[in-house]
Amino acid sequence: MIDWQSQLNSLNDRGLLRRLRTVTSDQGAYVEIDGQRVLLLCSNNYLGLATHPKIIEAAQRATARYGAGSGGSRLISGSMRCHQLLEEDLAAFKGTERALLFNSGYAANCGILQGLLGEGDLIFSDSLNHASIIDGCRLSKARTIIYPHGDFEALDALMMQEVSRRQGRWLMVTDGVFSMDGDLAPLPELVKLKKRYDALLMVDDAHGTGLLGAGGRGTGEYLECLEDIDLHMGTLGKALGGAGAYLAGPSAAIELLINRARSFVFSTSLPPGVPAAASAALEIVAGSEGDELRQRLVENRIRFITGLRQGGLEVEEHPSPIVPILTAEPAPTMAASERLITEGYFVQGIRPPTVPAGSCRLRATLMSLHQPSDLDAAAKAIVQAVQGASQ
Ligand SMILES: *Cc1c(COP(=O)(O)O)cnc(C)c1O
Repeated sequence: MIDWQSQLNSLNDRGLLRRLRTVTSDQGAYVEIDGQRVLLLCSNNYLGLATHPKIIEAAQRATARYGAGSGGSRLISGSMRCHQLLEEDLAAFKGTERALLFNSGYAANCGILQGLLGEGDLIFSDSLNHASIIDGCRLSKARTIIYPHGDFEALDALMMQEVSRRQGRWLMVTDGVFSMDGDLAPLPELVKLKKRYDALLMVDDAHGTGLLGAGGRGTGEYLECLEDIDLHMGTLGKALGGAGAYLAGPSAAIELLINRARSFVFSTSLPPGVPAAASAALEIVAGSEGDELRQRLVENRIRFITGLRQGGLEVEEHPSPIVPILTAEPAPTMAASERLITEGYFVQGIRPPTVPAGSCRLRATLMSLHQPSDLDAAAKAIVQAVQGASQ
């Protein structure tokens, strides 16, 4: 008997059943969900670029000229000039020899790890790395050692233990900005370990690209070690407002991935409008408008966190726009999230398996589009919802 329904019932009993909410407006500071207008506090469209007129125009122009789809994978007939131009832009942005596009961050991490590593290799992976890294490690068939989150001393000890039986390549992989906590990887310390043990360092900067560092080049730029990262993975669907992902790195790695990464080889390439939009977004991010948007985002974060703290909530502050408000268990988390929606604030509750059991949270994310007065009101409503739900 196929017992999908009983699995669903079990998820529901444990407060872990998820459902979709449909957005019927564009992706601005406010969105309409299920017919109701709410302040959007759970989008990764941090700089508001998803609705930027210049980026929309770039997508429209490329779509009108080159069509709605690419018609094939990159290795067959779907490698178009706009893919190549964006790859050149990305390599220049990250300061690497080359870059390669993937259809999503999920596909990138699966393809990069599977394509570059194999049996006999060893991966060191942070315990809070994104699910797509975890899946990529599995697909690679390399042995994977999980080190405690951000703990470079524990990682050093684990690497030391492995030295005597070393055979293949070693790769350390970490999120740059951790997606559910907003904290940063200790990249300068990881760079030291990489040099000490002759390992490679791969950073998934899905939440840092476009946001961190003076030029928006990401967590590596912010922590002043961009050139020490071997493999720069990042996504185009968050701060850059579009879709897709990339790896920027050495030519030989890119060439090998073109040959071996299954999520690259066996998948239709992105429609022309998508890379064209991302190239336009990169130009904005790297220019003075990017500076202004990042500045506004920092001001919004400070304002919002100040409001939460004034209301008595304990929240950590990190250089990213991700603000987790810990609520521990699923029931009060979802009750607070539901209540906030009825009051006009859209903040998702995050539950296992996205985060470890006992660390459920409201994960608020800020955008440069938010108005300070809206954030003040949102902070007050969140304080009340969280305190109400825990009573
Ligand atoms: C969102 C995210 C991904 C996946 O990227 P998509 O383009 O959404 O598939 C990968 N890694 C991290 C750290 C992310 O936050």
